[in-house]
Amino acid sequence: MCVFCKIVNGEIPAKVVYEDDKVMAFHDINPQAPVHILVIPKEHIPTVNDLEEKHKELIGHIFMVIKEIAKEMGIAESGYRVLVNCNRDGGQEIYHLHFHLLGGAPLGPMVCR
Ligand code: 5GP
Ligand code: ZN
Repeated sequence: MCVFCKIVNGEIPAKVVYEDDKVMAFHDINPQAPVHILVIPKEHIPTVNDLEEKHKELIGHIFMVIKEIAKEMGIAESGYRVLVNCNRDGGQEIYHLHFHLLGGAPLGPMVCR
């Protein structure tokens, strides 16, 4: 079972900030910004490449959750970045789809290298 599935089923602890029947959000263990939350579907979907038509509503729901968390964290107005890495060149480390929510300070330009 992957690390994030273990967080979903409670085998590994996490600082959870949001949970419902389909989605979970928790603080990244190695934050890259003052606010760094990971928002994940509870379903084990490895990468963006594995998304199917049936996931359209789930992905829309995840963005609504991201919006609410940003507001709760007080970064909605100052701004934030939502990031998804895919596969090797995207720098994906955990192969369970997750959305990084980063903010709380100016993040600088998008950096590719
Ligand atoms: P990726 O590179 O796959 O897009 O990002 C994986 C993220 O998961 C990294 O930012 C990493 O710090 C975070 N991470 C890895 N293992 C754990 C863990 O056990 N708990 C939490 N909360 N975050 C983790
Ligand atoms: Zn998983």
